[in-house]
Amino acid sequence: MPRKEILEAVQKYVDPFRVTKGQGFQLKDFDPADTRGLKMNKGDAAELLRRGSEWLAMEQDMLYAQDRWSLLLIFQAMDAAGKDGTIKHVMSGVNPQGCQVYSFKQPSAEELAHDFMWRYARRVPERGRIGIFNRSYYEEVLVVRVHEEVLERQKLPAGLVTKRIWDERLADIAHFEEYLSRQGVVVLKFFLNLSYKEQKKRFMERLDRPEKNWKFSASDVRERKYWDDYRHAFQEAIGATAAVYAPWFVVPADNKWFTRLIVAAAIVELVESLDLQYPKVDAAKKKELAAARAELAAES
Ligand code: ATP
Ligand code: MG
Repeated sequence: MPRKEILEAVQKYVDPFRVTKGQGFQLKDFDPADTRGLKMNKGDAAELLRRGSEWLAMEQDMLYAQDRWSLLLIFQAMDAAGKDGTIKHVMSGVNPQGCQVYSFKQPSAEELAHDFMWRYARRVPERGRIGIFNRSYYEEVLVVRVHEEVLERQKLPAGLVTKRIWDERLADIAHFEEYLSRQGVVVLKFFLNLSYKEQKKRFMERLDRPEKNWKFSASDVRERKYWDDYRHAFQEAIGATAAVYAPWFVVPADNKWFTRLIVAAAIVELVESLDLQYPKVDAAKKKELAAARAELAAES
């Protein structure tokens, strides 16, 4: 199938999950188990994903060679939604030299001594690179919003902590992303939308299967008690920061194969739209290449 047709086919699946306008956004309109009626066996899904990753690898090569745009891919989700696996599978084909993954955990003392954006801003990918944020500055309006004691650790001057703080932070994030977009950093944000029920199932698996035990953390089960607070925080965050220049994708996460396909498709679709090309070789460069070739050929 020609690439254009594949892209059009892919678009049909990605479109329903893309949010570029916050107005009227309702998280509850998105079904975590949705697969758009697509039924696939594991083998077919894996094969399609493999092709998507190959495609992405090809585009990444041009992104790197061109050295103008960069791509910032943000992954946010509740625990066990499959962030790590999705990143691993979707990026499996790309050249590690052109790709930087950062996992943001609880901030260090040094990080807490700075403004909240500091530790994220310094990890924004260089030109020509793909940067992946496994968690991101969105934690500053998610976990920090859900747990007030986390905000206290940030040592803000008391007068700046008002009930408007979350709206202010969301506005700051939206501005930051607009700024990035004007710098040639293309921002895509993925919320892996897992259901409460499926999360329980995955936690159970981590407890019951020895090879998955290492993934289990008791604190994840404690966080589950704040499910509704997190949903509310996500709803607010996506609503306030969805934009054409920094779209959100609310990706169904109850079926891993579908999650991975949609994420891969969204990225491929985006890089295609950049219309990347290898840098043009001008006359002077051509001459230089020819001379080098002649020199090599003349070696005895
Ligand atoms: P996994 O569990 O798959 O290894 P993870 O992203 O859940 O990956 P953990 O080390 O389990 O990694 O958890 C990181 C923790 O750090 C999360 O609970 C998250 O809420 C917390 N965290 C991330 N950013 C911040 C922040 N800015 N302030 C406070 N806590 C944060
Ligand atoms: Mg965790």
